[in-house]
Amino acid sequence: MSIQFFLSLYFAVLGLILGSYLNVVIYRLPRRLSTITPRSRCPRCRVAIPPWDNIPLLSYLWLGGKCRRCGFRIPWRYPAIEAATGIGFVGVYQAFGWSSDSVVAALFLAAMIVLALIDAEHYILPDVITLPGIVLGLVLQPWIHWTTFQAAVIGAAAGAGVLYGVAWLWYWWKGIWGMGLGDVKMLAMVGAFLGWKGVIVTLFLASVSGSLAGAMLIVLGRLHLQSKLPFGVFLAMGAVLALFFGQTLIDSYVQMTVQILGG
Ligand SMILES: [Zn+2]
Repeated sequence: MSIQFFLSLYFAVLGLILGSYLNVVIYRLPRRLSTITPRSRCPRCRVAIPPWDNIPLLSYLWLGGKCRRCGFRIPWRYPAIEAATGIGFVGVYQAFGWSSDSVVAALFLAAMIVLALIDAEHYILPDVITLPGIVLGLVLQPWIHWTTFQAAVIGAAAGAGVLYGVAWLWYWWKGIWGMGLGDVKMLAMVGAFLGWKGVIVTLFLASVSGSLAGAMLIVLGRLHLQSKLPFGVFLAMGAVLALFFGQTLIDSYVQMTVQILGG
């Protein structure tokens, strides 16, 4: 067994444990509850869940997805988020190795998961995450090698500016704030972590996937032209792809453009 295998396993376990805490944050933060106390309880019978029934992923499988006392069916979202965080952390280790970049990337990934899930359910992107996120992205720049401090400052400003401009234009045209200012602050945070190139990739992927999802839901009759899509979900997906594949995407795009222009 190689050292790489053990470190991958280590990141997976860390991700599973953090994912379990992210579940708590996703549930409690929009409800203005403390994420530290009290201990997790069953939503139906209110019994405190003992630590041995709160092991990420394993407890869910062991208990067959039900509360041990009352048989309440635990939503599959809980183990899914734990698994996604675990897999994401292994991806971080594969991409950035044993480095300070990995620590920052893992933190950023966790924030994107939380923002996406809260936006999907409540249509809000809490300031408690996005505003400190902007500052943190800039402060952590000396430990990041995928972008520079200057590019991050430009990224934060451009991220906020672009979406604020879109929101303002929409308001000027329609007389309503169609886009939440949460999206503006979230893209600024993405810029602070990933730099301005990351903002371009994120915004491109989020717009394309958001439009496709919107069109599909309209065709399926699940969505009306007036209803809102949680754009933060698409920003989060775009940002995670930009984190892992941003440079590759930009390089292949530049190469393609050069080839087309070069005839
Ligand atoms: Zn119960």
